[in-house]
Amino acid sequence: MEKAITKIVIVPSPGFSHLLSLIEFSKRLIQLSNALHITFLIPSLNSPSESSKSILKTLPSAIHATFLPPIHIDDLPEGTPIAAHLQLAVTRSLPFIRDALKSLSLTPNLAALVADLFASDSLICAKELNILSLIYCPSSAMTLSFCLFLPKLDQIVVPTTQFKDLHEPIQIPGCVPINGRDLLNPVQDRNSIVYELFLQKCKQLLHVDGIIVNSFKEIEQGPIKALIDETNGYPNVYPIGPIIQTDSTNSKNGSECLTWLNNQLPNSVLYVSFGSGGTLSQDQINELAFGLELSCQKFLWVVRAPNESSNFGYLNSHDDHDPFKFLPHGFIDRTKEQGFLVPYWAPQVQILSHNAIGGFISHCGWNSSLESIMNEIPIIAWPLFAEQKMNAVLLSDGIRVAIRPKGNEIGLVEKEEIGEVVTRVIEGDEGRELRERMKEMKNSAYETFQEGLSIETLVKLVVRV
Ligand code: UDP
Repeated sequence: MEKAITKIVIVPSPGFSHLLSLIEFSKRLIQLSNALHITFLIPSLNSPSESSKSILKTLPSAIHATFLPPIHIDDLPEGTPIAAHLQLAVTRSLPFIRDALKSLSLTPNLAALVADLFASDSLICAKELNILSLIYCPSSAMTLSFCLFLPKLDQIVVPTTQFKDLHEPIQIPGCVPINGRDLLNPVQDRNSIVYELFLQKCKQLLHVDGIIVNSFKEIEQGPIKALIDETNGYPNVYPIGPIIQTDSTNSKNGSECLTWLNNQLPNSVLYVSFGSGGTLSQDQINELAFGLELSCQKFLWVVRAPNESSNFGYLNSHDDHDPFKFLPHGFIDRTKEQGFLVPYWAPQVQILSHNAIGGFISHCGWNSSLESIMNEIPIIAWPLFAEQKMNAVLLSDGIRVAIRPKGNEIGLVEKEEIGEVVTRVIEGDEGRELRERMKEMKNSAYETFQEGLSIETLVKLVVRV
């Protein structure tokens, strides 16, 4: 008899990195069960990026993906934070999501809707159809632990006090203590509408059927223990990580930098990249360029045009300007033996797995952090926006696989400090120690991942419904 197919719908938020993580997650699900069919309904703002389109080209037949009609948000006031754009794109896509789900429910076995953390509004459609409502958190267990703890923290700390003004670090359940200024962006101003919206979303998390988080106990023992503790009143949490990208060769600027790496010594090159959309100011680009020069270490730098808003590239198209023209005068000539520059986008997974790479200046996006750990590449933590400062605290103070430059009083990381940390990571004993710690985590993570207990429980839960 033919096996009945169970159907799952996944709703990511717009933007490359969350989509990427959900795609890799769904590939893992269908590896574990050949009785699943997965449909992606992808909300989009304006037109989807080339990188987002290209990762959909290689999907196995059990995964189907559709971009929903683009949402326009020109009516939002200038300066509205990116998190609000993402959530609004989902809210305004609800009619399309509802229609698609209704037609999928006309045939049997529609079991679950899995929504990205920023797409939780779509779970209302799951409730309407009486199917499982699950959240996928593409970030750390520490971030998730914070989100679930925020409603309580909001009650404990008087409303007139900002978290960043607290004298003592904040103790999120199971996590390394963290200063309020390192918490994620939406909670930095408790008087803002963005904070209010974020708090509401965190409260809603408590009512879903389950939360999937892309982490694993070898790197986040404390937060995971706190999340799965049965007395905490939280929904079931499934730590299914590490889910990482396995191939990024669909990138346009791929092969030359890999050829250049082939001619470098093992562990000798620093990789510099700020994720799918991180951007630096012109002053910071200058300091970084001079700092790399000062370090005298080899480097491979993915360069973007400057912008005062550090998340500018996340939803905006990349290729408008030649980014190299913003580098300091003479830098390209002076460093032509020392470095390799790639405009805008590089095949990161191939780069990090190349044996010439010895360190990574990273904005600490969660995908990049996991890719670095799984390739044993010590991190120089340079967080920019979203929850990246929390990740930087976890990586540097928590599991000690990163060094975090301090920066000056206005937040600029100066060339002398850059030169010094780069040399410490590439040449010093410190770099070797960070690498050793990553190796231990990676090996035991690999075993856990092979066992896949948490994800199997999840598959059983969905297929049983
Ligand atoms: N990435 C890439 N090439 C680039 C920049 C980024 O392949 O030039 C990939 C990277 O490997 C990672 C993802 O894009 O998988 C970025 O996700 P992350 O969570 O690190 O950061 P975000 O883009 O969300 O800031």
